[in-house]
Amino acid sequence: MKSFSMWSLLALLVFCSAGACHAGTPGPAVQRQDIAVTLEPEGHTLMGQSTITFAAGTRQVALRLSAEASIDSVAVSGKKAPFSFDHGTLLLELLPTGTAESIPVTVSYRATFNDPVSRHPAASEDPSYGVNGAITREGTFLGGGAYWYPVPSQIPARRSISITAPAGTEAVTAGRRLSRETTGAVTRSVWEEARPVGVLSLCAGPYRVEERRVDGIDLYTYFYPDNAALASRYLDAAAKYLNFYSELFGAYPFEKFAVVENFFPTGYGFPSFTLLGGSVIRLPFIIDTSFPHEIAHSWWGNGIDVDPAEGNWSEGLVTYLADYLLKERRSPVEARDYRRQLLIDYASLVTPGAEFPLSAFLSRSDPASRAIGYGKGAMLFHMVRSQIGDRAFFEALRQLCRDHLYGSASWSDFVRAFSRSAGRDLGPFMNQWLVRSGGPGLSLAEVTSRREGKGWRVSGSIVQSAPLFELPVPLALETAGAQVKEVVPVRGERTRFTISSNDPPGRLLLDPGSEVFRILGRGEIPATVNSIKGSSRLIGVITPNCRAGRETFGKLLTSLSQGGATLVNEADLGRKAVEDYDLVFCGAPRDRSLLPQLPEGVELSDSGFSIDAERYGAPDGLLFLVLQFPGASPRVAAVFQPLSDAAAEQYSPKITHYGKYGYLVFSGGANRRKGTAPALDGAAVVGFPP
Ligand SMILES: [Zn+2]
Repeated sequence: MKSFSMWSLLALLVFCSAGACHAGTPGPAVQRQDIAVTLEPEGHTLMGQSTITFAAGTRQVALRLSAEASIDSVAVSGKKAPFSFDHGTLLLELLPTGTAESIPVTVSYRATFNDPVSRHPAASEDPSYGVNGAITREGTFLGGGAYWYPVPSQIPARRSISITAPAGTEAVTAGRRLSRETTGAVTRSVWEEARPVGVLSLCAGPYRVEERRVDGIDLYTYFYPDNAALASRYLDAAAKYLNFYSELFGAYPFEKFAVVENFFPTGYGFPSFTLLGGSVIRLPFIIDTSFPHEIAHSWWGNGIDVDPAEGNWSEGLVTYLADYLLKERRSPVEARDYRRQLLIDYASLVTPGAEFPLSAFLSRSDPASRAIGYGKGAMLFHMVRSQIGDRAFFEALRQLCRDHLYGSASWSDFVRAFSRSAGRDLGPFMNQWLVRSGGPGLSLAEVTSRREGKGWRVSGSIVQSAPLFELPVPLALETAGAQVKEVVPVRGERTRFTISSNDPPGRLLLDPGSEVFRILGRGEIPATVNSIKGSSRLIGVITPNCRAGRETFGKLLTSLSQGGATLVNEADLGRKAVEDYDLVFCGAPRDRSLLPQLPEGVELSDSGFSIDAERYGAPDGLLFLVLQFPGASPRVAAVFQPLSDAAAEQYSPKITHYGKYGYLVFSGGANRRKGTAPALDGAAVVGFPP
């Protein structure tokens, strides 16, 4: 990482080229904004005063402020001024100021923020859990969308924020922390931003604060006392990942980095801090999964904002650069399995009716939009990197940082940056994934092998179902000797290929490394929890053996994005439904012909279940098992078998988090077994007789 002084200088240069000096930003120039708020958690209220300093010549001012706020006064250059405030928009006219160089507008206001906070992690795919603003005794979260301070239409060149709260309530927002002190009955901290981006968010709570300075960046943890012992692990990890990404993309773009605990289960990245729920912070894997994901957002999504006109590129990119890239650095097998999982998730979660192009993705709202915006987006970056190589790929990302930091970027900027660094136009390739829904369905056909001279010659076609894409498709020919790899440029409905081999061919595999985005064929997708989440026609069936209450079973289905599913008793289940719908049984059905064949080693009975000779009969056990029906129509059935209503209550909300698994066993308070039966090989593999 570069030293801070050098970085400040660079940042000023960049800021001037991409931020305040950027040509043509409409609206009055805002020189600075000073915000002072006092939090009163008992009454869920905030008392605020903010001075926004406009450049001379500004005549009209429009500020967004919470529609619920009441405004005590507005002053221009220290004198009370008339204003209007309607539907959260504060308007006032400024008179000519003569020789003054700037016009300070001061707004004094108060507002209540008390959005209901859900503590159930399964409640939603929405990372904010529907909370814009909540000031409570337990904690405070004020997101940018709450408009907790008067927000001008243009981002000010500097901002300072002073937060006063009852003694012991520590607050965090964007920028460098200038001071933090407790005197008498209040705790106050002051933050200042010299490189502002976006609308400010604010968090506060009875935090224990730990800090460290690494390579000129202040690192903080703001954790509740229960998690305070985890602080040093998070500070270590923050230093590690900030260093890793600084080397990849260029210096870290903000004044500090803080890890802040939230009182509801978020995983959220803001400019210069990340907000993780307490239950999230305690999960051991988070520190190397969600945490680096949020850190990578410092550059992608926060340092460079998303220009939403062409869709949100940041989730696909950060998924690729964090969740994926860290696996790739551990092992090629983990990398391949991750890419494979993205394709499986897409095929099982995105029903044809739910498809939309990447350019229409803004944020995730359900499993399908996640599979598109995060998963397909990540695969697009992978395909680009495979085609242009690491050097050109990462050079383009560094150039984007140089050109767009503290500003915004669109997909078109990525197309241009990759094309420039690769020295060829990637527009036609990238645009087909950006503006069209879905992806190619690919299969092998007419594959034959014959002897030719001393070796063998394998030929055949890659068949593509509509919509048609143009893409390079890897083939691998397994032989008695070395594996032969070939990349076939696929276009149109049928692309012929020929592969020569010195040794007798064993199997031909289409894209065995999951290098390209495609819609997997039915035989390639294992039946998993995600198959249930992605079902478009599902019935919940209550068997006589169901140990869960109807309401608990309904809540399970809701957590699996199937809240609209019909619930019926097994006796009322018609034959037609059995043929047309995916089914989730609560309890093992009396009529076993309603289920596909159970996998080897799995037994169900009225009193319990067993897997690989291990028997579960105690009341705190629970099985969730997803099975695929044989035949042409792709249907699945799941057995949800809690051994008591208490077990159903306890474990059901967890099931949705195990999306890629085909069976789950819970007992003794935790997940005991999980796994997935392998999919058939489908039309992406052809075997040759020996
Ligand atoms: Zn993200």
